[in-house]
Amino acid sequence: MSDAGALIDERVAFLYASQTGNAESISYAVYEEAAKRGFSASWHVLDDHEKFGFNSLRTIVFVVSTTGDGDPPDNSARFWRVLRKATRADAKAYSHLRFAILGLGDTNYSNFCNTAQRLDRQLLAAGATAFYPTGLADDGTGLEEVVEPWIEGLWPALARVARCSSTTSSDGDGAAGDTTAAVTDALAALDVSDGDSPPSAEGAEAAAAAYEFQPLLLDFRPMAALKAITGAPRVPPAVCAGSFLDDDAEGRYWAAAAQRDALACPPWHAELEAGSPQDRTLAPFLATIASATQITAPEALKRTLLVDVALPSAAASHVRGRWHAGDAFNIFAPNDARLVAGVLARLGVDARTAQRPMLLQNTDPAIELPAHLRRFSTTPASIQDMLAWSADLCSPPRKQLLRALVDGCAEAADRDRLLYLCSRQGTATFDELRRQQPTVLDILCAFPSCKPQPTRLLELLPPLPPRSYSICNAPSESDARWQIAFNVVEYELEVVDPFSRAEDPVLSAAATRIRRRGVCTPWLEELTRRAAPPHILVALRPNLNAFRLPPPLPTGAPDPRPVLMVGPGTGVAPFIGFLQQRACELAAMPADGSTPFTWLFFGCRSPAHDYLFRNETRAKLDAGVLGRLSVCFSRDPEARAKHGAERYVQDAMLQRRDEIADLMLNKNALLYVCGDAKGIGKDVNEAMSDILCGYLESRPEQARDLAAQLPVSKAPADPAPAPLTKAQALQLLTLWATRRRYLRDLWA
Ligand code: NAP
Repeated sequence: MSDAGALIDERVAFLYASQTGNAESISYAVYEEAAKRGFSASWHVLDDHEKFGFNSLRTIVFVVSTTGDGDPPDNSARFWRVLRKATRADAKAYSHLRFAILGLGDTNYSNFCNTAQRLDRQLLAAGATAFYPTGLADDGTGLEEVVEPWIEGLWPALARVARCSSTTSSDGDGAAGDTTAAVTDALAALDVSDGDSPPSAEGAEAAAAAYEFQPLLLDFRPMAALKAITGAPRVPPAVCAGSFLDDDAEGRYWAAAAQRDALACPPWHAELEAGSPQDRTLAPFLATIASATQITAPEALKRTLLVDVALPSAAASHVRGRWHAGDAFNIFAPNDARLVAGVLARLGVDARTAQRPMLLQNTDPAIELPAHLRRFSTTPASIQDMLAWSADLCSPPRKQLLRALVDGCAEAADRDRLLYLCSRQGTATFDELRRQQPTVLDILCAFPSCKPQPTRLLELLPPLPPRSYSICNAPSESDARWQIAFNVVEYELEVVDPFSRAEDPVLSAAATRIRRRGVCTPWLEELTRRAAPPHILVALRPNLNAFRLPPPLPTGAPDPRPVLMVGPGTGVAPFIGFLQQRACELAAMPADGSTPFTWLFFGCRSPAHDYLFRNETRAKLDAGVLGRLSVCFSRDPEARAKHGAERYVQDAMLQRRDEIADLMLNKNALLYVCGDAKGIGKDVNEAMSDILCGYLESRPEQARDLAAQLPVSKAPADPAPAPLTKAQALQLLTLWATRRRYLRDLWA
């Protein structure tokens, strides 16, 4: 395994900028509490940045105030100059940095909390990541309203990014500062597995407060000129009603819930396991997260984790002999617990109600419950669990959902805007809404008077599908283990602010950055930090495109055809399994057998940051299992110059066009491509057609023979036909795909 990097930092710096002493004393109190909780903490005023080495810090908690007309405190003046200079010299100067900011200000003055907002913007623009949402406390209404919950939410967030030496806090409450608690305290507060009654309402409300919703930037001004709104979809019928269990049944429900232990899967997992498809191989089962390693350096653009999932022996024997390198498996992941808590809070459902078990029924016998809710007509579950595990809270909003939300609004303004969004006239605004990838919470918060019934919202939302990951080991290496490599999906969208004014220096950037996260990978990352290895629900997903190495010959020797593999980034995952499988085949090969040629094209940004599986591929190269390795570095010109590497895998292929064409056209080679459909899938196809055309240009007879095998083209004849036209080269690739010589595993 290559390039293991630390997941969490060893130390945290608490920095402040204070004019009247408020920010200083709050910062000191937070620092002191952090030290008590076992974090390795230091405390400094911002202007001492040289003394404490600001540029080398990786995890910082800022408390900063704003004075005058939005000015920063005097004891941070030098710091701002240095920050500006550093970010001018290098646009990504702080990509190594994770931060949290508490801002103090007063809404009675202009530029409320400008210091905190400016710091947030500048750090984000310089590549830093906020590990916890910025809190803006208002002296006008009482600082404590924001300060206290912000500090409370800081500890679990900090425990996710910084090491804590003790698993119990110094005041002995056992929860604070526990870095091994992988899911935040907020999440733990919502976890019903710890007792036989629902947890306290306060915990859930804290969790809701911790979720960062994104204000939507939508321009409704065109509505003013409209005479009519047309083309909105019909309102989908309401079919779903819920009823709570009686006391006895609820008691039984909680007693059963108390038995659940270290599970990170839907409470109804046993039912999913039992109600499996005919083929037991495809049935979901509980597996354990055995280990996790970050295989990218901390400076890498993306964080890639290699996770080992241990299969229980019964499941391992079900799937034995039925899975192959190249297959994937599904993981059943929930929505972010903070997002769920946020939606519940927004709907006005208190924590106790949210956790009370209920059954759903259809109010109209002629209309069935939506498929994702049907099980709840017989299996009781809480609204919170249904929202967490069954409904997709992050999928792109559909017009039907918006139309149905119109009826949940108390205010005419919200109703009109929602109607406009799903109308023909509002198409551009609707497109902008989808571009911002809002969660359901973002939408609800954008229309403050909209408060649909929770069961109504549940039935309107699409089902939450499981997520798939390629298995990157081979069965022969271990039958009871699946390994996956994935990027933790966290990214920023740039959204143009329709209300920005060019003359405003702050807003003239006219773009706001919106942070978004994937559903499954951040959750998996959190789970990997739990003290006790959690169980997750998984199911084998065989590759339906036969994306796997051909089986060995009856003699036991591997299939002799050359194999070309193209997989940049995590697209290399299945090929690691292929190489393991090939190593086993070679070990079992008759003594006089010859080793078939294999060639891997891998691409990453820089050899120092994200060269995934470097040790593994080099070892296979040294052992002769891999015949050739071509690696590209897209964002490291120095490394390219040093290693004679190309930028992208398709560039490397074009560079070696004759060898590739010869292997494909004359040596019956197999070509495998794994990656995203829009990027690598399209680009390699394009490169291959160029490679074939180029090679055949000087081989007209071979070109004619090949063209004769292709279906007759309906396109008008090329007046000056090349030996093989581009269209024919593409046809040839399609033919190879149907003959399983060109295999692609492309991901959306
Ligand atoms: P990535 O980090 O985004 O990119 C890896 C390298 O590929 C970078 O150097 C990147 O260059 C380069 N690249 C970007 N676009 C390219 C293109 N059109 N052609 C050639 N190279 C390109 O890769 P990733 O996020 O790991 O994504 C790999 C893909 O594989 C994803 O679609 C993923 O869904 C899929 N996949 C995942 C799994 C899994 O189990 N996790 C398994 C199989 C496939 P620049 O960014 O510098 O331009």
